Amino acid sequence: QALLARIAAHDHALGAFLHVDADGALARAAAADALLAAGQGGALTGVPTAHKDIYVTADMPTTAGSKMLAGYRSPFDATVVARLNAAGTVSLGKLNCDEFAMGSANENSAFFPANNPWDLGRVPGGSSGGSAVAVAARLVPGVTGTDTGGSIRQPASFTGITGIKPTYGVCSRYGMIAFASSLDQAGPMARSAEDCALLLSAMSGFDERDATSVNQPPQDFHAQMLAARDGATAAQPLKGLRIGLPREFFPAGLSADVNAAVRAGLAELEKLGATLVDVSLPRTELAIPVYYIIAPAEASSNLSRFDGVKFGHRAAQYDDLLDMYKKTRAEGFGAEVKRRIMIGTYVLSHGYYDAYYLQAQKLRRMIADDFQQCFTQCDLIAGPVAPTVAWKHGEGKDDPTQAYLADIFTLPGSLAGLPGMSVPVGTGAGGMPVGLQLIGNYFKEGQLLHTAHALQ
Ligand code: GLN
Repeated sequence: QALLARIAAHDHALGAFLHVDADGALARAAAADALLAAGQGGALTGVPTAHKDIYVTADMPTTAGSKMLAGYRSPFDATVVARLNAAGTVSLGKLNCDEFAMGSANENSAFFPANNPWDLGRVPGGSSGGSAVAVAARLVPGVTGTDTGGSIRQPASFTGITGIKPTYGVCSRYGMIAFASSLDQAGPMARSAEDCALLLSAMSGFDERDATSVNQPPQDFHAQMLAARDGATAAQPLKGLRIGLPREFFPAGLSADVNAAVRAGLAELEKLGATLVDVSLPRTELAIPVYYIIAPAEASSNLSRFDGVKFGHRAAQYDDLLDMYKKTRAEGFGAEVKRRIMIGTYVLSHGYYDAYYLQAQKLRRMIADDFQQCFTQCDLIAGPVAPTVAWKHGEGKDDPTQAYLADIFTLPGSLAGLPGMSVPVGTGAGGMPVGLQLIGNYFKEGQLLHTAHALQ
């Protein structure tokens, strides 16, 4: 009730929620209360949450931030949502996001932008912008996001919260509306690494309905987060931990305020016993063109299902079937989504496939190999999440390729399928939050959470 009141009082200014289900939430909370009164339930029983509107839900509408799905109702829950429900969390609603998770500022939402609680004139980041705002404004303690090229880490950084994108395959993509299937990953966003660990333990795990789900035993990320390192002491819990700083993550174009906050965070990690080592990810810059070929290619295929026949919007008037497809898609998709469908269709087309798509796939492998080279010299990698703090609304809206450049530090890890997280380390220009990015090797979520927890 307290959080619903808080949402009612503040969300018109914040724009975090696309849908609030007050009655349903109170009913679920009452059920959780009954369970707890009977001495049952677990760490998450009765904990309020909310889901990025990319996850399909049976009891609430799902839009993916798009007019294309206005009025759509899924017959089933996404696996991640079903698992969090089963763990006893109480969903309050669905969270604003960029249309089909394409964007870095939540300004591509077809409904309304979300505003950064630290400065309402600034963006909260994206595409999980509503998720970040909901946690940062204390409307909900922990939520779900999705990260294809940075969409958990970057909004977490911009709003001063903690978010983790696990290794590709750790969380099921079943019921997560597909953007770029070889990159899409679910993950939690919350106030602390500890809260993220509890949520991730409940969300993750093998799912036979997702062909790329990793078949590993259920993980207790909270226990992994708490487990002491060999040789650790109370004063130096990170003793012996080697943190690699890729020199390409500290380029001349990195803004001075972000650099200072990140360096301060790294100095804290050193005090906690970690050692910093220089490493190199030589193809960092190439991650941008590689991602912006592969992600649109996959999106152009995934979004072909929105044709006016099966889901959501259909044009009211049309001459024949082809005309119905054209009008439906012209009306239903926003400008950024159309741009990506066109880029994707182009790079997959006969004659351009080899020149663009195939080259991008080869470079993707080399980017992943570069990380493995780094991990021979260090245990995890650290750097900034984004080159600047959250920008002002409207800035960068006219030049989409300029916005793509801001993804430079999150895209390499995404292309490699590695786990990554954002941990708040201070503030930069305008008092805006700055996150430190930690990238681990495959299945090292526990190590990332342990390190972030030590810092917090
Ligand atoms: N900003 C990136 C994009 O627009 C990442 C989005 C995401 O991770 N969903 O594609």
